[in-house]
Amino acid sequence: MESFEQMGLSQNILSALKAMKFDKPTEVQGTAIPEILNGRDVYVRSKTGTGKTAAFLIPIMQQARPGRDPAALVVVPTRELALQIDGVAKKLAANTRLHITTVYGGVSLNPQIDSLEAGTDLLIGTPGRIIDLIERGAARLEEVRFLVLDEADMMLDMGFIDDIEYILRSVPAERQTMLFSATSRKEILDIADKHMRNPYHLSIGPDDELVVTTIKHTYTIVPNTKKVSALLSYLKARTGESSKSIIFARTQMAASALYEALSDFGMKPLLLHGGMTQARREKTMRQFKTEKSGIMIATNVAARGLDISNITDIINFDVPDDPIVYIHRVGRSARMGKDGRAFTIFSTDQVRELKNIEYYSNIKMEREHVDTEEFGNVSFGKYFQRSRGRGAGDERYGNRRSAGHDRQSSGGREGYRRSGYHDGRQPRRNYGRR
Ligand code: ADP
Ligand code: MG
Repeated sequence: MESFEQMGLSQNILSALKAMKFDKPTEVQGTAIPEILNGRDVYVRSKTGTGKTAAFLIPIMQQARPGRDPAALVVVPTRELALQIDGVAKKLAANTRLHITTVYGGVSLNPQIDSLEAGTDLLIGTPGRIIDLIERGAARLEEVRFLVLDEADMMLDMGFIDDIEYILRSVPAERQTMLFSATSRKEILDIADKHMRNPYHLSIGPDDELVVTTIKHTYTIVPNTKKVSALLSYLKARTGESSKSIIFARTQMAASALYEALSDFGMKPLLLHGGMTQARREKTMRQFKTEKSGIMIATNVAARGLDISNITDIINFDVPDDPIVYIHRVGRSARMGKDGRAFTIFSTDQVRELKNIEYYSNIKMEREHVDTEEFGNVSFGKYFQRSRGRGAGDERYGNRRSAGHDRQSSGGREGYRRSGYHDGRQPRRNYGRR
């Protein structure tokens, strides 16, 4: 549909949309909202930054009635994403009497329990904390009529599936189930079919085009010992223009070490990973969101769903373990038709990964010349040592007791465990050898 008015939405919601400056529905909204309003289960695939959040929140807001226990439950993989969706939901509900509670780990349970007790219509959260609250009897899900899994393929992936099955068993069978993501996998569709009634598969855009076309993809191949130098010269080349970048590292340790390295070279990066205290994570996000330019070093905890305005560059200091992760990482830039740049540093033994990303994502990456001589061999090991030296207890790195990423992963690698591929295609060679 071409307009929100045509969808028969209430005045409350239409005026909220006006205040948000959502003049007309995006393509995914125009297609998905009427289906959801018709009561269909949906599995929606639409590229990063195309407005999927409002596509599920608008029909929920339209249909939920104020009550005591939640009528809708939105499950998301990370705390940052839970908070972000909370923000959008509150704007959309501004003129309604609907109450929203958002729950995630790493913070005290009591305010969340109080908020649920006071009456909640929409519950948003990460799986671990939702289950905790169910077990404490604080989250009562008997009234849930709408269930959303945002970043569905990740939520139904191996690391999360047990938690999601538990949550699915805790909500009524008589409900509407909605899955959203920019990517999908055949195996996930099988699981989805098991939990959904005659789902409507909605795929926006060509099936073989998963990546936003307004991103320019470049790369360099350097020996391992030159990765930091390559990063430094890329950053140096980009500092003239005002750039706002996320640099992705593979593990919490690597992210912390990179933080040390860039600080040593006079930069003032921000750091985000799942081993940090929740207070620190939220502070980092607030800072990065308000900055016009700057650098945030992050693990995959920032790879999915985050909508931060005007990110110009996504830098893969470490190659993602899975091409799907590449798609989501680069999708933090180039949102809603904007331009973006993605730069990936491959080590000389990773040429196969490069081919795999190009093949799976159906993109062409262009080799970019970076000068690795200017900064020489920067010893990354030294920075690893230094960050390990700080480690637990240092606010920046968090402490082990709160090592909180809500059950979603163990060890230092965050957020992703590979299982098959979106359309059954298999990678030419296995990943995860390291
Ligand atoms: P996705 O979940 O598909 O990655 P988001 O829901 O995070 O995308 O939305 C991406 C951006 O687009 C957000 O900044 C959001 O405010 C904006 N947006 C969404 N819908 C509209 C609309 N109809 N009109 C204008 N901007 C919109
Ligand atoms: Mg999203």
